[in-house]
Amino acid sequence: MSVRIGKIRGIPIRLHFTLILAFFLISWMLATNFMPFYFPDLSQTEYAIMGFMGSVILFISVLVHELAHSVLAIKYGVQVKQIILFLFGGISDISSELKDYKKEMKMAFAGPLTSFLVAAAFALPWWFVSNFALGKVAEGILFYGAIVNLVLGVFNLVPAFPSDGGRMLRAALVRRKRDYNEATRLAAKIGVGISYAFMGFGFLVLLSGSFVSGIWILLVGWFLMSGAQSYLAQIPVSELLSKIRVRDIMNTNVIKVSDKITLSDLSEGYFRKYLKSTFPVVDDDGRLVGAVTLGRTMEVSQEKWGATLSSQVMIPASELAVMRPDDKADDALMKMGAKRLGKIMVCDESGRLVGIVSKTDILGVEMERQEYLKAFKK
Ligand SMILES: [Zn+2]
Repeated sequence: MSVRIGKIRGIPIRLHFTLILAFFLISWMLATNFMPFYFPDLSQTEYAIMGFMGSVILFISVLVHELAHSVLAIKYGVQVKQIILFLFGGISDISSELKDYKKEMKMAFAGPLTSFLVAAAFALPWWFVSNFALGKVAEGILFYGAIVNLVLGVFNLVPAFPSDGGRMLRAALVRRKRDYNEATRLAAKIGVGISYAFMGFGFLVLLSGSFVSGIWILLVGWFLMSGAQSYLAQIPVSELLSKIRVRDIMNTNVIKVSDKITLSDLSEGYFRKYLKSTFPVVDDDGRLVGAVTLGRTMEVSQEKWGATLSSQVMIPASELAVMRPDDKADDALMKMGAKRLGKIMVCDESGRLVGIVSKTDILGVEMERQEYLKAFKK
């Protein structure tokens, strides 16, 4: 439902199909309504140019807003899978939630702040052009650029979780109450309330005869609602996982390899035998030092396998997701998302590998919960 248009800082940028539709709609609305209202007596061609440029500016503005979130996310070590631009703006697909409320606050505010700065960057030349009468077309485009970024900043600050404002609200709630799930629930409920208000208002506007505006506000309300509700649905799982320790779900039956094994022995004795593509590597004391993968092994030419040790090709432990047995399962799930890894290595205080947790182990907990709830209802 979306097309990839490029990559910025390693983040794929995608256009949702609704946006392609919106591009024409917005160009048309700008050319026939907005621009003639503020800048009368121009030609059709001039309005068409202004409408087209306005649409382009809107898209770039949304992209810049999302990039601001993403840049901070990357700075905080959180993976950004992609940015999708769609009808109501953009979504930075950030693979994990930050539990650090200070960072979340900054990350959420980065978007609106950037929009306000871009608005100012348009307002300045607009003021210049309008004061010296340098042409109505440029004036209109700059004016729209300032307005649209201002609206973008303000709209995103509406505290309807998971919007930027809603995330800032949650961060503030976490700061006061300190329970993350409770804060998410409260912020999402406020979000649902606000989305009802939007829909009610949209309905009134519709009744008053402004059909297009009414539908638009109703859609925004519905959009806010679905966002908040998808988060409300996730909370029970998150709460459940926060009560479970990594040690309770980890697999202790781990096949590990020595850091002194050669690649030829590794291939014969492990990859071919167990038909697995990854093995944790431990030193003589059982401490985790890394992980070997079939991919990394295949990068070495086969003649050298007899003389190459696993420790020479392994991914170092510092690049793996490592946790303690007493850590919480919901943190494990988050860490997997953030590091884009399917597995977490569990080590004791002395660094000895005691188990592995995979995504399926954690999802298994949720499936059991569903089973339990089903049985309970009978
Ligand atoms: Zn934002």
